Amino acid sequence: MANNVNRVVLVGTGAVGSSYAFALLNQGVTEELVLIDLNKEKSEGDAMDLNHGVAFAPSPTKIWFGDYSDCQKADIVVLCAGANQRPGETRLDLVGKNVKIYKTIIDQVMASGFDGIFIVAANPVDILTYATWKLSGLPKERIIGSGTILDTARFRYLIGDYFNVDARNVHGYIIGEHGDTELPVWSHADIGGRSIVDIVNDENEYSKEDLDEIFINVRDAAYQIIERKGATYYGIAMGLVRLTKAILQNENSVLTVSTYLNGEYGEKDVYIGVPAIVNRLGIREIVELKLDKTEQEQFSHSVKVLKDTMEPVLGS
Ligand code: NAD
Repeated sequence: MANNVNRVVLVGTGAVGSSYAFALLNQGVTEELVLIDLNKEKSEGDAMDLNHGVAFAPSPTKIWFGDYSDCQKADIVVLCAGANQRPGETRLDLVGKNVKIYKTIIDQVMASGFDGIFIVAANPVDILTYATWKLSGLPKERIIGSGTILDTARFRYLIGDYFNVDARNVHGYIIGEHGDTELPVWSHADIGGRSIVDIVNDENEYSKEDLDEIFINVRDAAYQIIERKGATYYGIAMGLVRLTKAILQNENSVLTVSTYLNGEYGEKDVYIGVPAIVNRLGIREIVELKLDKTEQEQFSHSVKVLKDTMEPVLGS
């Protein structure tokens, strides 16, 4: 980390990666941004294209097409490389392909002498975050998966839309696997401090069935978007920028990211989405919500599904 300006290295400049780079430049989050991809022409072209926007950006960002030696002075390496879901495929279906890709990438990043924070975005994100931790040998606090950051944003947006309030005043979390077994924590969801469960119980115009439908639309959002346009990328890109900013600006912000559990929520040895406080050092601490019985059962099921999927690929 011997650099006096912030440097982010992005590995994988596909749909998610290039959208992230674009959002990062537009928000002026880092002084240096390095792009790496197996498809060198693509990342070189992206660097040229993005540089042509520098004059319109809120602050200067130096962007170049680089290689793994640039990771040595990086504060954050963001991993967006890897296969994405085809229509009908689940995120867990990608595990074999993407763990193989990650082995080659992490080896090259670590060979540079990198000693910063990894952000992992490729799917299945919880398992690839665990793999990144194992393969890099870095402290667990410095490996952060995007987890349910996007699912939580989708949740807040849909609740805001339903109750006609600003999504930023909706507090609630989607936790668990970033995938089919994730769950909403209704017991801790509120609007401006008022519990959403209470609002639905007290006011006739709202219903529990509608809340259930909101969650289904959150959980299945990626399938719905992939069916229509082949991939999802703007939402996650903005979520990754939010996370990058929380780290570089030492925000101590609460974000739902994939982080390592060591007894929290009654679980161990798994990376999974839960609220956590994020700052310049990575994960400062996990926010442990008191789940109700059903939520706890659903969460434990989600952990089990991740562990069962991970075991044949990474060993137990
Ligand atoms: P994409 O196919 O558009 O881009 C993937 C990029 O990775 C390509 O440019 C490819 O050349 C590159 N790549 C592949 N192997 C590489 C290697 N060994 N080294 C360097 N680069 C390599 O895919 P996408 O739509 O950008 O999706 C990327 C990943 O992000 C997928 O796994 C997808 O499922 C995931 N994703 C995650 C979320 C989330 O919420 N975490 C949301 C959307 C997509």
